[in-house]
Amino acid sequence: MRSKNEVGELALLDKIRRRIGRAGSGVQLGIGDDCALLRPRPGEDLAVTTDLSIDGRHFKLDWHSPQTVGHRTLARGLSDLAAMGARPIATFLSLGLPPELVQNTKRRSSAWIDLFYDGFLALAGKHKTLLAGGDLAQSPIAVADIVLIGAVRRGHALLRSGARPNDLLYVTGKLGGAVAGFTKLAKLASARAARHSTTGLKVPARLATALQPHLFPQPRIEQGLWLVRHQVATAALDLSDGLSTDLHHLCDESNVAAEVDVTALPLFPDTTVEQALHGGEDYELLFTASRAKRVPSAILGIPVTCIGHIVKRQQSKPTVTLLTPQGAESLERRGWEHFS
Ligand SMILES: [Mg+2]
Repeated sequence: MRSKNEVGELALLDKIRRRIGRAGSGVQLGIGDDCALLRPRPGEDLAVTTDLSIDGRHFKLDWHSPQTVGHRTLARGLSDLAAMGARPIATFLSLGLPPELVQNTKRRSSAWIDLFYDGFLALAGKHKTLLAGGDLAQSPIAVADIVLIGAVRRGHALLRSGARPNDLLYVTGKLGGAVAGFTKLAKLASARAARHSTTGLKVPARLATALQPHLFPQPRIEQGLWLVRHQVATAALDLSDGLSTDLHHLCDESNVAAEVDVTALPLFPDTTVEQALHGGEDYELLFTASRAKRVPSAILGIPVTCIGHIVKRQQSKPTVTLLTPQGAESLERRGWEHFS
């Protein structure tokens, strides 16, 4: 006989299965069998990434709505596919949740987990990413672990290692918005009396736009695909740890150095240069391109800004130099960790 827990889990899986579509492009077989079956197109490489989100570390149940947690869980992984120029195919999601997040409560018509899937599946649908499997277990703390599979034209994935001296350095979108939004959310949290909640903070309408980059970051999938299609970028990565840290990653992998013009940084409204340089989780793309390539000022509606250039690496010089009106200074890696 199946235990009450098992019956509950099966019913939940059935509910999720009914919410997601049929197998999409690249997925032969989704949820229901022992394994999913994936089939990329001929001449494609598979791109695979995993990402772990933990309550208190990557999100807070009493700060973030379940929809936000669902969205952000997937956005982090999708952004890595965007950075490789990969087309998302499928995602696998394993959840470890305390029982009160799975059950309906008297006060609320939907359980936390249902609202989590609202956020998760809305973003998955937007980027045609099929939820093709996963697992669910009881856990003392909320944990969401995802695997994302994408496909990219064989040999054309955007790597961190391709930047060359004299290349120009570009970034999509605006910078600093995620950390600025997070700071505002933290202020809301401290203004409110401490109480245990799993619904997240109620965000006043006047803060909705400012909090958007933190609560609902948009992975630049379309822009990554565009860069591959037009063979524009020599190297790329997504800004998850903050520009200062991520640019060091790119320089290290390419064995080059970089100079960033502080006056060129595209700041999100109401953010500081510090936040743009070091704030993480913007999930914009940072890429390099040869000066011979014409890079448009926007790709599919998202602005693209040249913020500097690549130079030869020299032992005596910093890896990343910040050019300011007062002169040049070394830009240290100071990626920001939200909850540390
Ligand atoms: Mg990444």
